[in-house]
Amino acid sequence: MPKFAIGVDLGGTNLRIAAVDDTGKLLQKLTLGTEVKRGRDHVIQEMCAAIEQLLAKFTSAGEMCGIGIGVPGFIDMESGMVMRSPNLADWTNFPVREVIEKRLGTHVILENDANVAAMGEKWLGAGRDVEHMCMYTLGTGVGGGLVLHGRLWHGMTGMAGELGHFNIFPDGHPCGCGSRGCLEQYASATAVVRMAREAMERKEASEELTRLEGDPVQFTARSIYNLAVQGDASAKRVFENVGRALGIGIGAMVNALNLPMYVIGGGVASAWDAFAPAMFEEMEFRSSIYALTSPERKEFSRSTIITRALLGSDAGLYGAARLPMLEDFSQLEKTRTKA
Ligand SMILES: [Zn+2]
Repeated sequence: MPKFAIGVDLGGTNLRIAAVDDTGKLLQKLTLGTEVKRGRDHVIQEMCAAIEQLLAKFTSAGEMCGIGIGVPGFIDMESGMVMRSPNLADWTNFPVREVIEKRLGTHVILENDANVAAMGEKWLGAGRDVEHMCMYTLGTGVGGGLVLHGRLWHGMTGMAGELGHFNIFPDGHPCGCGSRGCLEQYASATAVVRMAREAMERKEASEELTRLEGDPVQFTARSIYNLAVQGDASAKRVFENVGRALGIGIGAMVNALNLPMYVIGGGVASAWDAFAPAMFEEMEFRSSIYALTSPERKEFSRSTIITRALLGSDAGLYGAARLPMLEDFSQLEKTRTKA
Protein backbone atom coordinates (compact mmCIF):
# COMPACT_ATOMS: atom_id res chain seq x y z
CA MET A 1 0.00 0.00 0.00
CA PRO A 2 1.50 3.37 -0.94
CA LYS A 3 2.17 5.98 1.71
CA PHE A 4 1.13 9.57 1.52
CA ALA A 5 1.33 12.75 3.57
CA ILE A 6 -0.22 16.19 3.65
CA GLY A 7 1.96 19.25 3.06
CA VAL A 8 0.85 22.75 4.00
CA ASP A 9 2.43 25.99 2.83
CA LEU A 10 1.28 28.87 4.98
CA GLY A 11 2.31 31.94 3.03
CA GLY A 12 1.92 35.61 3.78
CA THR A 13 -1.08 35.87 1.45
CA ASN A 14 -2.57 32.43 0.94
CA LEU A 15 -2.68 28.92 2.22
CA ARG A 16 -1.92 25.90 0.05
CA ILE A 17 -2.44 22.30 1.03
CA ALA A 18 -1.51 19.16 -0.89
CA ALA A 19 -1.69 15.40 -0.58
CA VAL A 20 1.51 13.87 -1.97
CA ASP A 21 2.48 10.19 -2.15
CA ASP A 22 5.90 8.85 -1.21
CA THR A 23 7.04 8.68 -4.83
CA GLY A 24 6.51 12.46 -5.05
CA LYS A 25 3.29 12.27 -7.02
CA LEU A 26 0.91 15.12 -6.31
CA LEU A 27 -2.47 13.57 -5.48
CA GLN A 28 -4.36 16.81 -5.00
CA LYS A 29 -3.62 20.44 -4.28
CA LEU A 30 -5.95 22.96 -2.67
CA THR A 31 -5.28 26.69 -2.78
CA LEU A 32 -7.38 28.51 -0.22
CA GLY A 33 -8.05 32.21 -0.47
CA THR A 34 -7.69 32.29 3.31
CA GLU A 35 -6.73 35.72 4.49
CA VAL A 36 -3.86 35.26 6.89
CA LYS A 37 -4.56 38.70 8.28
CA ARG A 38 -7.92 37.51 9.63
CA GLY A 39 -6.00 35.85 12.39
CA ARG A 40 -4.69 32.62 13.74
CA ASP A 41 -7.93 30.89 14.75
CA HIS A 42 -9.56 31.56 11.40
CA VAL A 43 -6.52 30.25 9.49
CA ILE A 44 -6.22 27.12 11.64
CA GLN A 45 -9.93 26.42 11.21
CA GLU A 46 -9.75 26.69 7.40
CA MET A 47 -6.50 24.71 7.28
CA CYS A 48 -7.84 21.84 9.34
CA ALA A 49 -11.09 21.68 7.36
CA ALA A 50 -9.12 21.40 4.10
CA ILE A 51 -6.76 18.77 5.55
CA GLU A 52 -9.75 16.74 6.74
CA GLN A 53 -11.19 16.93 3.25
CA LEU A 54 -7.98 15.46 1.79
CA LEU A 55 -7.69 12.84 4.54
CA ALA A 56 -11.25 11.67 3.88
CA LYS A 57 -10.47 11.31 0.21
CA PHE A 58 -7.08 9.54 0.37
CA THR A 59 -6.90 7.58 3.63
CA SER A 60 -8.54 4.51 2.08
CA ALA A 61 -5.96 4.52 -0.74
CA GLY A 62 -2.77 4.48 1.34
CA GLU A 63 -1.06 4.78 4.69
CA MET A 64 -1.10 8.34 6.04
CA CYS A 65 2.31 9.40 7.40
CA GLY A 66 1.34 12.72 8.96
CA ILE A 67 1.19 16.41 8.20
CA GLY A 68 4.01 18.85 7.56
CA ILE A 69 3.38 22.59 7.79
CA GLY A 70 5.77 25.23 6.48
CA VAL A 71 5.48 28.47 8.47
CA PRO A 72 7.31 31.76 7.92
CA GLY A 73 9.20 32.38 11.15
CA PHE A 74 11.38 30.85 13.84
CA ILE A 75 10.00 27.54 15.06
CA ASP A 76 10.93 25.86 18.32
CA MET A 77 11.09 22.26 17.17
CA GLU A 78 10.66 20.88 20.69
CA SER A 79 7.56 22.75 21.74
CA GLY A 80 6.04 23.13 18.26
CA MET A 81 5.55 26.83 18.79
CA VAL A 82 6.23 29.76 16.49
CA MET A 83 8.81 31.88 18.31
CA ARG A 84 8.93 34.87 16.01
CA SER A 85 7.13 35.63 12.77
CA PRO A 86 6.74 39.10 11.24
CA ASN A 87 3.75 37.93 9.14
CA LEU A 88 2.00 35.90 11.82
CA ALA A 89 2.17 38.10 14.88
CA ASP A 90 -0.66 36.39 16.79
CA TRP A 91 0.83 32.90 16.24
CA THR A 92 3.71 33.37 18.64
CA ASN A 93 3.67 31.71 22.04
CA PHE A 94 0.71 29.59 21.03
CA PRO A 95 0.92 25.77 20.91
CA VAL A 96 0.17 25.54 17.17
CA ARG A 97 1.33 21.97 16.71
CA GLU A 98 -0.52 20.64 19.73
CA VAL A 99 -3.78 22.35 18.78
CA ILE A 100 -3.67 20.98 15.23
CA GLU A 101 -2.63 17.49 16.35
CA LYS A 102 -5.52 17.37 18.82
CA ARG A 103 -8.00 18.55 16.24
CA LEU A 104 -6.86 16.11 13.52
CA GLY A 105 -5.71 13.20 15.67
CA THR A 106 -2.48 12.74 13.73
CA HIS A 107 1.20 13.70 13.84
CA VAL A 108 2.08 17.21 12.76
CA ILE A 109 5.51 18.70 12.05
CA LEU A 110 5.92 22.48 12.04
CA GLU A 111 8.89 23.70 10.07
CA ASN A 112 10.32 26.98 8.88
CA ASP A 113 9.13 27.83 5.34
CA ALA A 114 12.63 28.15 3.87
CA ASN A 115 13.55 24.77 5.36
CA VAL A 116 10.57 23.05 3.75
CA ALA A 117 11.50 24.61 0.40
CA ALA A 118 15.03 23.21 0.81
CA MET A 119 13.61 19.78 1.59
CA GLY A 120 11.34 19.96 -1.48
CA GLU A 121 14.28 20.76 -3.77
CA LYS A 122 16.31 17.99 -2.14
CA TRP A 123 13.56 15.44 -2.64
CA LEU A 124 12.27 16.22 -6.13
CA GLY A 125 14.12 19.24 -7.47
CA ALA A 126 17.65 20.45 -8.15
CA GLY A 127 19.13 18.53 -5.21
CA ARG A 128 17.58 15.13 -5.85
CA ASP A 129 20.94 13.50 -6.69
CA VAL A 130 22.98 14.95 -3.81
CA GLU A 131 22.98 14.04 -0.12
CA HIS A 132 23.92 17.50 1.13
CA MET A 133 22.80 20.89 -0.11
CA CYS A 134 22.09 24.41 0.92
CA MET A 135 19.20 26.47 -0.40
CA TYR A 136 18.63 30.21 -0.62
CA THR A 137 15.09 31.48 -1.19
CA LEU A 138 15.15 35.01 -2.57
CA GLY A 139 11.71 36.51 -2.00
CA THR A 140 10.46 39.48 0.02
CA GLY A 141 13.28 38.46 2.36
CA VAL A 142 16.03 35.86 1.99
CA GLY A 143 15.45 32.46 3.58
CA GLY A 144 17.88 29.60 3.90
CA GLY A 145 17.82 25.88 4.50
CA LEU A 146 20.52 23.28 5.00
CA VAL A 147 20.13 19.63 4.12
CA LEU A 148 22.84 17.30 5.43
CA HIS A 149 22.72 13.55 4.83
CA GLY A 150 19.29 14.00 3.29
CA ARG A 151 17.80 15.58 6.40
CA LEU A 152 17.22 19.17 7.45
CA TRP A 153 19.90 20.55 9.72
CA HIS A 154 18.10 22.21 12.61
CA GLY A 155 20.90 23.17 14.92
CA MET A 156 20.31 23.22 18.64
CA THR A 157 16.83 24.78 18.76
CA GLY A 158 15.60 24.47 15.19
CA MET A 159 16.76 27.91 14.11
CA ALA A 160 19.72 26.96 11.91
CA GLY A 161 19.94 28.05 8.30
CA GLU A 162 19.20 31.75 8.61
CA LEU A 163 21.39 32.39 5.60
CA GLY A 164 19.62 35.65 4.76
CA HIS A 165 21.23 37.20 7.81
CA PHE A 166 24.80 36.40 6.89
CA ASN A 167 26.69 39.62 7.16
CA ILE A 168 27.80 40.95 3.80
CA PHE A 169 28.73 44.55 4.62
CA PRO A 170 29.42 45.27 8.34
CA ASP A 171 28.08 48.82 8.18
CA GLY A 172 25.54 48.22 5.45
CA HIS A 173 21.80 48.83 5.27
CA PRO A 174 19.89 48.23 8.56
CA CYS A 175 18.13 44.87 8.66
CA GLY A 176 14.88 43.84 10.36
CA CYS A 177 16.87 41.40 12.51
CA GLY A 178 18.60 44.30 14.25
CA SER A 179 21.93 43.95 12.47
CA ARG A 180 23.23 45.80 9.41
CA GLY A 181 24.29 44.75 5.95
CA CYS A 182 22.70 41.27 5.95
CA LEU A 183 22.42 39.33 2.68
CA GLU A 184 18.66 39.94 2.76
CA GLN A 185 19.33 43.66 2.38
CA TYR A 186 21.02 43.05 -1.00
CA ALA A 187 19.48 39.94 -2.52
CA SER A 188 15.73 40.10 -1.80
CA ALA A 189 13.01 41.59 -4.01
CA THR A 190 12.65 44.34 -1.40
CA ALA A 191 16.37 45.06 -1.67
CA VAL A 192 16.27 45.24 -5.48
CA VAL A 193 13.62 47.96 -5.30
CA ARG A 194 15.51 49.84 -2.58
CA MET A 195 18.84 49.68 -4.42
CA ALA A 196 17.18 51.01 -7.59
CA ARG A 197 15.75 53.88 -5.58
CA GLU A 198 19.15 54.58 -4.03
CA ALA A 199 20.68 54.70 -7.53
CA MET A 200 18.09 57.30 -8.44
CA GLU A 201 18.83 59.36 -5.33
CA ARG A 202 22.53 59.30 -6.24
CA LYS A 203 21.52 60.47 -9.73
CA GLU A 204 22.97 57.28 -11.19
CA ALA A 205 19.69 55.96 -12.58
CA SER A 206 18.75 56.04 -16.24
CA GLU A 207 15.73 58.02 -17.44
CA GLU A 208 13.78 54.77 -17.80
CA LEU A 209 14.55 53.61 -14.26
CA THR A 210 13.66 57.05 -12.89
CA ARG A 211 10.37 56.98 -14.79
CA LEU A 212 9.62 53.52 -13.39
CA GLU A 213 10.23 54.76 -9.86
CA GLY A 214 7.52 57.39 -10.33
CA ASP A 215 4.87 54.66 -10.58
CA PRO A 216 4.62 52.74 -7.28
CA VAL A 217 2.61 49.90 -8.90
CA GLN A 218 5.16 49.35 -11.69
CA PHE A 219 8.27 49.81 -9.56
CA THR A 220 8.98 46.18 -8.73
CA ALA A 221 11.96 43.83 -8.80
CA ARG A 222 10.41 42.22 -11.88
CA SER A 223 10.13 45.47 -13.86
CA ILE A 224 13.65 46.54 -12.82
CA TYR A 225 14.84 43.14 -14.10
CA ASN A 226 13.01 43.71 -17.39
CA LEU A 227 14.91 46.98 -17.79
CA ALA A 228 18.19 45.20 -17.04
CA VAL A 229 17.44 42.61 -19.72
CA GLN A 230 16.82 45.43 -22.20
CA GLY A 231 20.36 46.64 -21.48
CA ASP A 232 19.65 49.49 -19.07
CA ALA A 233 23.04 50.01 -17.37
CA SER A 234 21.66 51.35 -14.08
CA ALA A 235 19.20 48.44 -13.72
CA LYS A 236 21.99 45.99 -14.60
CA ARG A 237 24.12 47.47 -11.80
CA VAL A 238 21.36 46.75 -9.28
CA PHE A 239 21.45 43.04 -10.18
CA GLU A 240 25.24 43.03 -10.18
CA ASN A 241 24.96 44.12 -6.55
CA VAL A 242 22.59 41.21 -5.92
CA GLY A 243 25.12 38.85 -7.51
CA ARG A 244 28.04 40.23 -5.54
CA ALA A 245 26.18 39.92 -2.24
CA LEU A 246 25.18 36.34 -3.07
CA GLY A 247 28.75 35.54 -4.08
CA ILE A 248 30.06 36.76 -0.72
CA GLY A 249 27.34 34.90 1.22
CA ILE A 250 27.53 31.63 -0.68
CA GLY A 251 31.33 31.85 -0.81
CA ALA A 252 31.38 31.90 3.00
CA MET A 253 29.15 28.81 3.07
CA VAL A 254 31.40 27.02 0.57
CA ASN A 255 34.38 27.83 2.78
CA ALA A 256 32.59 26.60 5.88
CA LEU A 257 30.93 23.44 4.60
CA ASN A 258 32.31 22.46 1.18
CA LEU A 259 28.89 21.11 0.16
CA PRO A 260 28.35 19.76 -3.35
CA MET A 261 25.35 21.98 -4.13
CA TYR A 262 23.89 25.43 -3.43
CA VAL A 263 20.40 26.00 -4.83
CA ILE A 264 18.89 29.44 -5.43
CA GLY A 265 15.10 29.74 -5.54
CA GLY A 266 12.37 32.28 -4.88
CA GLY A 267 11.05 35.01 -7.16
CA VAL A 268 14.35 36.89 -7.55
CA ALA A 269 16.03 33.67 -8.80
CA SER A 270 14.23 34.25 -12.11
CA ALA A 271 16.64 37.18 -12.60
CA TRP A 272 19.45 34.59 -12.67
CA ASP A 273 20.98 35.77 -15.97
CA ALA A 274 21.20 39.32 -14.59
CA PHE A 275 22.93 38.46 -11.28
CA ALA A 276 24.73 35.15 -11.90
CA PRO A 277 27.83 36.47 -13.76
CA ALA A 278 28.67 38.85 -10.88
CA MET A 279 27.87 36.10 -8.35
CA PHE A 280 30.27 33.58 -9.93
CA GLU A 281 32.99 36.20 -10.30
CA GLU A 282 32.63 37.14 -6.63
CA MET A 283 32.66 33.51 -5.52
CA GLU A 284 35.92 32.84 -7.32
CA PHE A 285 37.37 35.80 -5.44
CA ARG A 286 35.89 35.14 -1.99
CA SER A 287 36.22 31.38 -1.80
CA SER A 288 39.41 29.64 -2.83
CA ILE A 289 37.56 26.38 -2.25
CA TYR A 290 35.02 27.41 -4.86
CA ALA A 291 37.80 28.53 -7.20
CA LEU A 292 39.43 25.10 -6.86
CA THR A 293 36.22 23.10 -7.19
CA SER A 294 34.18 25.13 -9.71
CA PRO A 295 32.80 23.11 -12.66
CA GLU A 296 35.32 24.81 -15.02
CA ARG A 297 38.36 23.60 -13.10
CA LYS A 298 37.84 19.84 -13.26
CA GLU A 299 40.73 19.30 -10.82
CA PHE A 300 38.57 17.13 -8.64
CA SER A 301 36.20 14.42 -9.74
CA ARG A 302 33.33 16.38 -8.19
CA SER A 303 32.49 20.09 -8.51
CA THR A 304 30.73 22.68 -6.40
CA ILE A 305 27.42 23.28 -8.16
CA ILE A 306 25.53 26.56 -7.78
CA THR A 307 22.22 26.23 -9.55
CA ARG A 308 18.63 27.43 -9.84
CA ALA A 309 15.78 25.73 -8.00
CA LEU A 310 13.47 23.62 -10.15
CA LEU A 311 10.16 23.37 -8.31
CA GLY A 312 9.17 27.05 -8.17
CA SER A 313 6.58 27.94 -5.56
CA ASP A 314 5.66 24.26 -5.04
CA ALA A 315 9.00 23.41 -3.39
CA GLY A 316 7.65 24.20 0.08
CA LEU A 317 4.51 22.18 -0.43
CA TYR A 318 6.43 19.05 -1.49
CA GLY A 319 9.03 19.55 1.22
CA ALA A 320 6.38 19.92 3.92
CA ALA A 321 4.74 16.69 2.78
CA ARG A 322 8.12 14.92 2.77
CA LEU A 323 8.89 15.64 6.43
CA PRO A 324 6.41 13.22 8.07
CA MET A 325 7.53 10.50 5.61
CA LEU A 326 11.08 10.76 6.98
CA GLU A 327 10.16 10.95 10.63
CA ASP A 328 10.11 8.13 13.12
CA PHE A 329 7.38 9.49 15.34
CA SER A 330 7.92 6.97 18.13
CA GLN A 331 11.44 8.42 18.54
CA LEU A 332 10.23 11.98 18.08
CA GLU A 333 7.75 11.69 20.96
CA LYS A 334 10.62 11.08 23.35
CA THR A 335 12.35 14.34 22.44
CA ARG A 336 9.31 16.56 22.40
CA THR A 337 8.54 18.48 25.55
CA LYS A 338 5.06 19.49 26.50
CA ALA A 339 4.14 22.88 25.14
ZN1 LIG B 1 19.47 40.58 9.18
